[in-house]
Amino acid sequence: MTITAKINKWNPDKKIISQAAEILRSGGLVAFPTETVYGLGADALNSEAVRKIYLAKGRPSDNPLILHVHSIAQAESLVFMNEISRKLAKIFWPGPLTFVLPAREIIPLRTRGGLETAAVRMPDNPVALALIEAANIPIAAPSANLSGRPSPTDSESVYQDMNGRIDFILDGGSTEVGIESTVIDVSNPEKILMLRPGGMSREIIEEAINTKLQVPDNTSKKRSPGTRYKHYSPAIPVKILRRDKAVNIPDNSGFMGVNNFDGLKFAEKIIFDDINNYAHGLFSGFRKFERENLDYIFVEWPEDNTGLAEGLRDRILRAACDYV
Ligand code: AMP
Ligand code: MG
Repeated sequence: MTITAKINKWNPDKKIISQAAEILRSGGLVAFPTETVYGLGADALNSEAVRKIYLAKGRPSDNPLILHVHSIAQAESLVFMNEISRKLAKIFWPGPLTFVLPAREIIPLRTRGGLETAAVRMPDNPVALALIEAANIPIAAPSANLSGRPSPTDSESVYQDMNGRIDFILDGGSTEVGIESTVIDVSNPEKILMLRPGGMSREIIEEAINTKLQVPDNTSKKRSPGTRYKHYSPAIPVKILRRDKAVNIPDNSGFMGVNNFDGLKFAEKIIFDDINNYAHGLFSGFRKFERENLDYIFVEWPEDNTGLAEGLRDRILRAACDYV
């Protein structure tokens, strides 16, 4: 059985935090809110505990985990930081930006999917930070969904996928950003690579480093293993809707997007005010349409590719990859 405890995000109850921290310290699994999506946490330095994450999610073992820390000093104890990563951490942490850097020996190979590098991030959520501090260990945490499914942005979605598979869920309400962190490889300061677009926009990072982020080529070992897999998909087909392309909409289809496609008839629509709200609501929208037993989900293709739209496009493409 999985226990869920409600916790006030702005004033996390110390007793509940120490209960969750104790579970982590003894090798158990705790789901917790971050500003991006809910994470499924385990002691990052305990290989057996980390194994349980892969089992609970059904995650391929070559897809490494992000280590969540509460300070830059803690990150320094795990990876070899350089000047540029320190600078970026000072500007953007806590926040939805993950650094891939050469790993120190202390990180078990299982946590880093057998790689010589590891991913670290400081999440911008008081519950997450209190938990990492109380546990006093780095917490390995992928998103708290079954592998391949939409990431959970509230505790109910975590429960749906993880009940009976994990020990504890900290319910801190719904997450703000709604898509996962941006992952960059900063191990070579001359060539910083964007491995996964996400909650921190490319433009903001490029302004801080005063140069363009580069893309690893298709054969590069530097690619993020996680981006090889189909991902983020609900149990019903997701199809992409582009403004300039005519389509037939089958009965019992749902729609999500920022524009109202007036001429098209949908059983249900979720119209978002802007791209940020779209990113925030995409995964929960997938799960809502799933619960309502719709036959198809049509998602609007974001027209421009700036800000959160880049991460949103990536999630949409992966969710819809069988039908593109
Ligand atoms: P998730 O925790 O499911 O949001 O996924 C974390 C992402 O970070 C995945 O795409 C991983 O492949 C990626 N990642 C974690 N560690 C590394 C690493 N050492 N090198 C490259 N990508 C990584
Ligand atoms: Mg994930």
